[in-house]
Amino acid sequence: MRDLNNMTVMITGASSGFGMVTAKMLVEQGANVVLGARRVDRLEALSQELGDANVAFKEMDITNKDQVHALAQLGIDKFNKIDALVNNAGIMPLSLLNAGRTDEWDEMIDTNVKGVLYGIDAVLQHMLDRGDGVIVNISSVAGLRVFDGSAVYSATKFAVRAISEGLRAESAGKIQVTCIYPGAFKTELGFSIKDTSILERLMKLGMAEIAQPAERVAETIVFALQQEKGVALNEIVIRPTAQET
Ligand code: NDP
Repeated sequence: MRDLNNMTVMITGASSGFGMVTAKMLVEQGANVVLGARRVDRLEALSQELGDANVAFKEMDITNKDQVHALAQLGIDKFNKIDALVNNAGIMPLSLLNAGRTDEWDEMIDTNVKGVLYGIDAVLQHMLDRGDGVIVNISSVAGLRVFDGSAVYSATKFAVRAISEGLRAESAGKIQVTCIYPGAFKTELGFSIKDTSILERLMKLGMAEIAQPAERVAETIVFALQQEKGVALNEIVIRPTAQET
């Protein structure tokens, strides 16, 4: 296994959920983390908790390419390198297509698709030049199948799968690429759902009850980062045991 000690890992969407928990686990194992999100007050608190020496953080909107590049540069300036990217920032404002919530569609596509591409763009050349790097993209089980209300969210997460596979093939021999497909886990993601009919449906399905702690996904991300350079865990699906769909 790769030793995480002194590895530098950039995490997008580190202010809550999987990103925040992964940052904590990585620093516990001696890694340095480069954290970006819009809620910079949360990043500041996390940095204080983890110790400023191990953390670089910056307010960053993943839909703004320059801000994503600036985050990567901050990490390179402080730690001289970025070994890995956890391309995690995302939103999930589910709704039925006939609800016509087109602003949310735009926001999802900008965040979940363009944001993932900007994350890759910010570190790829640096990693190729070094001949080493790990990129973990976070898709979803909604990136493998479509549910009522998930048409656009699923489209963005199917796209993350396509991007991951293209990146894997194009960077073969140099970069380890992992795409993770989580089911229902306890984070703040559901707060972005504003369509009440979808919220009611999810309540009926009991999703909140079966959702498992974010730590389980963070452990999986860490496991992907620990793989020796010669192999990559290309695809990982992780669901609560009780999740049927
Ligand atoms: P959270 O809502 O807890 O975390 C999402 C993170 O993304 C936050 O840190 C948020 O930070 C960040 N983010 C959102 N929009 C932007 C933006 N425009 N610019 C920068 N950062 C942004 O949810 P999760 O931890 O669950 O989500 C992480 C990933 O996991 C997402 O891609 C999600 O789709 C995926 N996922 C989650 C599942 C779950 O069950 N929880 C299941 C399947 C996939 P801020 O608002 O401060 O900018």
